[in-house]
Amino acid sequence: TPLLSVEGLSASVDEKTILHGIDLAIPAGETHVLMGPNGAGKSTLGHVIMGDPAYTQTSGSIRFDGEDITDLSTDKRSRAGIFLSFQAPVEIPGVPLSSFLRATLAGRPGLKMRGKEFRRRMKELCAELDMPVEYLNRELGVGFSGGEKKKVEMLQLLLLQPKLAILDETDSGLDVDALGVVSRGMDLYRKRTDGTLLIITHNTRILEHLDVDRVHVMVGGRLVHDADASLIDWIDEHGFERFEAMAAEAN
Ligand code: ADP
Ligand code: MG
Ligand code: MG
Repeated sequence: TPLLSVEGLSASVDEKTILHGIDLAIPAGETHVLMGPNGAGKSTLGHVIMGDPAYTQTSGSIRFDGEDITDLSTDKRSRAGIFLSFQAPVEIPGVPLSSFLRATLAGRPGLKMRGKEFRRRMKELCAELDMPVEYLNRELGVGFSGGEKKKVEMLQLLLLQPKLAILDETDSGLDVDALGVVSRGMDLYRKRTDGTLLIITHNTRILEHLDVDRVHVMVGGRLVHDADASLIDWIDEHGFERFEAMAAEAN
């Protein structure tokens, strides 16, 4: 059975239906990519899988790691091993990033570590991601650029080592430096934990060094197509017009 299995999932925000009957299965250890035009509902799907209370799931079920999580809180889903990268870290002046990351591990028995071990681990991760270790002393979120927020997400990902990571690259323009950190982070996560990835992106450059197992296309809140990794290059060349036409016909 797949690690994540979404069946007939519909969801709305403010009475407006955004997702229509989504079926999606992701086997453990695979890397899946979700693509589609702006406003298709890609980020919404990530939020609904994570149980974000801003969205109302109106039908369908979500199973994860052998358990029905449809009615679980976001916190419980997170403890079950799902990670969603949407959260831009809040700004808390005076709180260093390292304290925030340490708090990330709190209440997770398997990940608990002493101060010394935590500092050693952070030093290692910064070296692997090619980030200056001084970065950890910065105040949380204060003046972070889009790229810097992505770096924090990669640190969180590698610290938490979730079973499933949903990485929503949003539309934030990442500079070359941040792109490198994100690519390295995803690569380390896959190799170190044999983790499972769902990457939501427009930026196909980020996918160049990844072994992608499956690509899903979302249009108008529906998954209209899926194919192997060769679809990425095809979409790069042709865009989403053909899928938008298919979706229009189906309606
Ligand atoms: P994508 O990530 O594919 O660009 P989104 O999931 O962000 O698409 O958005 C899909 C649709 O749902 C859009 O029409 C968007 O305006 C709407 N939407 C998403 N989140 C919210 C929200 N929190 N409040 C109101 N509308 C939302
Ligand atoms: Mg694989
Ligand atoms: Mg989005």
